[in-house]
Amino acid sequence: MNQFSYYRASTVKAAIDAASRSGNTRFIAGGTNLLDLMKSGVLTAETLVDINKLPLREIRQEQNRLHIGALVLNSSLAEDDIVKKQYPLLSEALLAGASPQLRNMATVGGNLLQRTRCTYFYDTTMPCNKRTPGSGCGAMDGINRMHAIFGVSDQCIAVHPSDMCVALAALDANILVAGPKGQRTIAMKDFHRLPGNTPQLDNTLGKTELITAVEIPAANFTNWHYLKVRDRASYAFALVSVAVALQVENNRIKDARIALGGVASKPWRLLQTEQLLKGQTPTADNFRKAAEKSIEGAVTRTYNAFKPAMVVNSIQTALLKSVAI
Ligand code: SF4
Repeated sequence: MNQFSYYRASTVKAAIDAASRSGNTRFIAGGTNLLDLMKSGVLTAETLVDINKLPLREIRQEQNRLHIGALVLNSSLAEDDIVKKQYPLLSEALLAGASPQLRNMATVGGNLLQRTRCTYFYDTTMPCNKRTPGSGCGAMDGINRMHAIFGVSDQCIAVHPSDMCVALAALDANILVAGPKGQRTIAMKDFHRLPGNTPQLDNTLGKTELITAVEIPAANFTNWHYLKVRDRASYAFALVSVAVALQVENNRIKDARIALGGVASKPWRLLQTEQLLKGQTPTADNFRKAAEKSIEGAVTRTYNAFKPAMVVNSIQTALLKSVAI
């Protein structure tokens, strides 16, 4: 690990000012991903700005939305009474992620910013365009079983590892950020990037901007399910995950949201599939037809060619479980 200076901020402004003073500053909260990256030499920092003292740990219901401070722990959010009652999809997704120990340290803001778990990204002896732009991609012709099938480029096929973010995408969350120029809101769909020619950029956050909160609009979903397909029952990243939220009235689907994890460098919303479901009756046949549409445009590599079929089956299963057919 390289040497770095450490600064503990007590206000959001002080944190941003400290970040603006150094060219290579990183904010640290739970540190569950950042410290691993620094210890293995994947990332370096001149300064770590500790944001744990900032007043960003509140979960509160506001008119038409739920406000979640960026420092709320994943475990606290998963067990929050309002979340369990009104946004159970989010609670299910959080509990599917990591381990209890990690959830007790990891924050909402850190979860959004966690890096891919592509093994070539973590192995500094291997080429990786995300770690070292222009060096190549070890995964492209390597062991790419966990890798992306949507939104890929010839530079990178990594996936975003979060479960929470998949639920937030389905729930149309917004990310509140603060920076030197003030505050702004980034829609969840615009927060994470596809790799394109700049796979080193995971998201649209400015270098000295700080996530302060996540907000989820109120919704009237009647049915939901988070399905995670993985190699073992806990502490494993998704091969494919599906977040489903439906509003069913009089046996018709009035509203539908579906997002996938484990298939792209960002949570992958299925807007076309959602449209196909609207107005339909919630039957296994209708779910299957919609699920089959969802893999159009998929691009597979040697070891992840099973994923499109897994996506179809997983979507249908998640939809069926959401309505308990
Ligand atoms: Fe790096 Fe992306 Fe290739 Fe993985 S898939 S080795 S993160 S460039």
